[in-house]
Amino acid sequence: MQVKSAEWYTAVALRGLFPLFLLLFLWLVPASALAAELEGQWYWQAEEGAEWYPFDFPHTPPLDSREGKVWLKTTLPDVLPRDASLLLQVHDQAFEIWLENECIYKYGELRPAFMAYGQRWHIVALPAESAGRELRIHAYSPADQSRGYFGKIWLDSDVDQVLRLFRQDIPYLMNIPLTGFLLVLILIYAGGPAAPKRLYKSFIAFMTAFLVWLVCAANSRQYLLDAPVLWRFLMQLSEYLLPLLANIVIFQVVDRKGKRLVRWTVLAYALLLIGVLAAELLGFNGMSRGLAAFYILLPVLELVALYAIIRSVRYGNMYAKAVSVPLLFMAGAGTIDGISMYQHWYVLDGYVLPYTTLSLCVFAAFIVRHQIKRERMLMTREEGLKQEVTQAIEKATTDNLTKCYNRNKLEVVLAAEILQHKNEEEPFSLIMMDIDFFKRINDNYGHEVGDVVLAGFAETVRKNIKKKDVFVRWGGEEFIILFHHCTGDEAMMIAERLRSKVEDTPLHEGNIHITSSLGVASWHGAEDTEAQLLKRVDEALYMAKRTGRNRVCREPKTNMHWFKNLYSDDETE
Ligand code: GH3
Ligand code: MG
Ligand code: MG
Repeated sequence: MQVKSAEWYTAVALRGLFPLFLLLFLWLVPASALAAELEGQWYWQAEEGAEWYPFDFPHTPPLDSREGKVWLKTTLPDVLPRDASLLLQVHDQAFEIWLENECIYKYGELRPAFMAYGQRWHIVALPAESAGRELRIHAYSPADQSRGYFGKIWLDSDVDQVLRLFRQDIPYLMNIPLTGFLLVLILIYAGGPAAPKRLYKSFIAFMTAFLVWLVCAANSRQYLLDAPVLWRFLMQLSEYLLPLLANIVIFQVVDRKGKRLVRWTVLAYALLLIGVLAAELLGFNGMSRGLAAFYILLPVLELVALYAIIRSVRYGNMYAKAVSVPLLFMAGAGTIDGISMYQHWYVLDGYVLPYTTLSLCVFAAFIVRHQIKRERMLMTREEGLKQEVTQAIEKATTDNLTKCYNRNKLEVVLAAEILQHKNEEEPFSLIMMDIDFFKRINDNYGHEVGDVVLAGFAETVRKNIKKKDVFVRWGGEEFIILFHHCTGDEAMMIAERLRSKVEDTPLHEGNIHITSSLGVASWHGAEDTEAQLLKRVDEALYMAKRTGRNRVCREPKTNMHWFKNLYSDDETE
């Protein structure tokens, strides 16, 4: 994913798609508003036999009822569509629909019920010859603001009612997959090594709540599961949770002083949620009643959160800048929705909140983009570190003058070789070399020339061994070469070749001839040790020096294991 293209998408989402969705939304509103509504004059009465008062349907009748019940009535039009039916969206109410003196539909038991009556839509088929007759609704609700509230009642053929339900669902059904996709995307990125885990966790929680809310707001939920109380509970729960979780997300991104502020807003939402949940479970209809407080708190607390964000943005906090986009859209939409639902405004024919999903995309794109940047940075840093480590190891194990390995390397290689070939006879061999009368070169030409000769000698040897042979400067002008998979006999031949090459290669621009002495020793298997091996090769070198220099000597044969083997074989025979 290119950083530039992510920015581009963000810009398109903001400037292009968002207004487009708004247009679509505005197009949907008149589309449904044109359809048939039940438009006659409405009257209400507190109880049967009481006086009827006209009221401005679909507002709630101005009724202060201890019983929690109300009667509403209107007259059906003189002409009805074929298969006429009524479509009602009902919250927290039990109700009966009467056609004059006959009850044609009943939902719930007009009395208190645990967790009220939930949210549900109803399609009520009207009997034939209902035209022009009186329609009465007897409703019960414990909540003043729900009692007698039926929003718009649609009068249409039942097929059109179902179509209407689906058309109202378009914004939700469009945004559910989008939110789901965002959620999956964020879940995938949350596993990344550079992911800010807490931010991701809180954002995932928020998106999950939003997804739940979208499902609850869609009419189709009822086809999925006809459980009005559950849907009502889930919807209100997610409504209380959304700003709480949003503020936890904000808490992750603002600076320290911002955190102090946002901690209070989180606490306020949390306390409200606990309060309404407790009241709900105790049977006081707490979640619906708490909404009044909630919709007053929402804009106030979000202004506080916005202040914290703006502060952080001023100090160059890019995360805060990104989170401000969905905050403004979602808090704004939530407030409009809340008040319009609570006050029964009719400007909007559905929720505005679903249209803010795209503002979430802005934030998601931003945090994913930042993570990719961080991962890239970590990768380059890791690459650099790896290089530095290799260089450091290289430096720690090589000698500057001769470019040979130093003793550290020999120790490591020897230990590994011994471990690998613990019980094998002659799986590897060592050659130890020492320049003959090197002191004289130093004395005659000076130490600097001595250095050049030393480097030249190492170069001659290196040219005549393989790259995998481990060539080590053991100290001064003494060297050890380790040959993998090499017997003593083979090492003897190599040593002889090296000796003659050194002898034949004049150094320091052809002025100085040197010779060298060499000792050869091999690994003897189980009973051998590193110290013994080094001692033997040193002894072999010493023998070469003692017996005249410029020659190769092998470790004393009496020490060799195969000799013992031969002896013991003789004994067993
Ligand atoms: P031989 O080995 O044949 O017995 O005689 P030698 O003169 O080479 O004796 P020995 O190996 O004991 O002396 C090694 C000398 O090498 C001693 C030291 O001055 C010299 N030497 C050791 N390291 C360096 C170095 O890095 N540069 C130079 N220029 N000389 C070094
Ligand atoms: Mg020497
Ligand atoms: Mg020496």
